[in-house]
Amino acid sequence: MSSLSHPRFSLGHFPTPVQHLSRLSRRLGGPQIYVKRDDCTGLAFGGNKTRKLEFLVGDALLGGADTILTAGAAQSNHCRQTAAASVRAGMECHLLLGGTPPDQPTGNLLLDQILGAVIHWSGLQRRGEELEEMAESLRSKGRRPYVIPYGGSNALGALGYVDAMEEYAGQSRETDGFPDAMVFASSSGGTHAGIVVGALRTGYAGKIIGIGIDKEGRPEGSFAGQITQLIGETLQLSGGPGSGGMAIPTVDLREEFASAGYGAVTGREREAISLLAREEALLLDPVYTGRAMAGLIAMIRNGEFRPNERVLFWHTGGGPSLLALSPGLQGL
Ligand SMILES: *Cc1c(COP(=O)(O)O)cnc(C)c1O
Repeated sequence: MSSLSHPRFSLGHFPTPVQHLSRLSRRLGGPQIYVKRDDCTGLAFGGNKTRKLEFLVGDALLGGADTILTAGAAQSNHCRQTAAASVRAGMECHLLLGGTPPDQPTGNLLLDQILGAVIHWSGLQRRGEELEEMAESLRSKGRRPYVIPYGGSNALGALGYVDAMEEYAGQSRETDGFPDAMVFASSSGGTHAGIVVGALRTGYAGKIIGIGIDKEGRPEGSFAGQITQLIGETLQLSGGPGSGGMAIPTVDLREEFASAGYGAVTGREREAISLLAREEALLLDPVYTGRAMAGLIAMIRNGEFRPNERVLFWHTGGGPSLLALSPGLQGL
């Protein structure tokens, strides 16, 4: 059971399963690899944002909001899950998406439309730079908007992953106790921050390795600093004994796998996607989990883990973007 007392709106099916990837582990000849199936959270094809949204929508309802506003890329998994969460909470959903409208919506964008979200296009700005302006305009029309930041990554959203760590601690028998390392895709930082704070609360002392997905539009090296700040805020918000005085651990963020750019599918992502599909029937997405798994595979090949170690990979979702038109996936 969660030790967090913050208001929460139930959206997902928890606990998500933990699975041993024995065929993949054997094939790679490195550590034993396990996966935490947060692609199975159950809300409109699931994903990591469902956990954050339980806290964010809980807060929106408490404050009497009638409209949810958020932002992301055209194939944003966060926006799709927010559209779904808004439906469940009986609120209107407005999405501010980067780019321009395509002729034929596919993947997450198609789902946003099916879920009834109102879509606005913001051109080159895909991190919600115009969210406050939109909120103001909705207020002037008499609506009560609640703004969820890009990726749902404020301290309140990150509580979703503090909670996820407590959930996993209750399942750690399935990985033979806590693993030696956890690996996951990191892009707006809420998942990363939540896992770090959850580790402090559950006593998990292994490595916490975020694979950076998205380097564009940020000063070099600044993302780790942003995550560190979010860890501090999340620690404070989560409360509990000693949360004020705890030292913030150094953030382990690997950004070398993001050099091709956000959403670019290279040989590494292609290999990870086909390997996982053919060894484990586990479907990764081309933007986040494909890249994060490619990072894990590269680390294993570089000898970062010993053969008797155990690594937990957090599958953060993203499946619908596998079905968006992606030239990089053709011919796999
Ligand atoms: C948003 C997202 C992430 C990254 O999580 P952050 O909390 O934004 O860092 C990883 N994987 C998928 C599939 C996502 O949609």
